[in-house]
Amino acid sequence: MRQVQALWRCQRVEGCGLDFHKEKPLNPLILGQFVGRPNVRVRVRCRGDRCKFHRLWRIEEMIAGLEKRGQGGARTEVDGLGAKMTTPCPMCKRVNWGAEILWVNTDTMGWKARGERSFEPGAPG
Ligand SMILES: [Zn+2]
Repeated sequence: MRQVQALWRCQRVEGCGLDFHKEKPLNPLILGQFVGRPNVRVRVRCRGDRCKFHRLWRIEEMIAGLEKRGQGGARTEVDGLGAKMTTPCPMCKRVNWGAEILWVNTDTMGWKARGERSFEPGAPG
């Protein structure tokens, strides 16, 4: 996990002072807890061998998608999300997803300067 975070940091947010944290799974976490928080995303990532594919979703988008497919909604547990994804990975063609909550510390300069654009791929640091 630490390794993934390091990768994330150096690929995406190098030098911009953002700090990503991984929430500890307590209670357990459900999607509805994060509705309306602009600094939180769901990261769905492929757990395939050496595959680094991942995608970020807004909480609201994820909930809407689950409801549309009749798979869940705001009460869906984050830990159970990966198992609901049935689309093969575009890179390794496997179905082996994991999901986690990603949030940006809103006290950082990076967040204050860029807000939700902090999540955009390739955004200038
Ligand atoms: Zn993959």
